[in-house]
Amino acid sequence: MTIRTPYKEESRDNGLGACSDEAMNVRITVALQGRVVAIDQVTDRRISDPFVQAGKQIAIKLERLRCPVHGKTASNVRLHFDVSGAVDLQYDSCCEKLGTVIGRALG
Ligand SMILES: [Zn+2]
Repeated sequence: MTIRTPYKEESRDNGLGACSDEAMNVRITVALQGRVVAIDQVTDRRISDPFVQAGKQIAIKLERLRCPVHGKTASNVRLHFDVSGAVDLQYDSCCEKLGTVIGRALG
């Protein structure tokens, strides 16, 4: 008699990140005409494209930056571009070590 049990190996947390193949999801907002607008609400591609491209560049960098302790990347990444084009980056991190790594790489 064979008892089938769900395969457990995959769910073991090895700290390397289970979804490393997925592109990092970055939420982008921009200041337009005194309002804060989510980038997917901007219908004019000529306006939104440069922000989307800039967001991708930052996402690519962030994907490579891992916490030396936990091997995790930043999560819940948010980018806000203000009127002057300056970018404000916010993210959740597993600990301050990851914040240090990111601050050094992007700062
Ligand atoms: Zn950490």
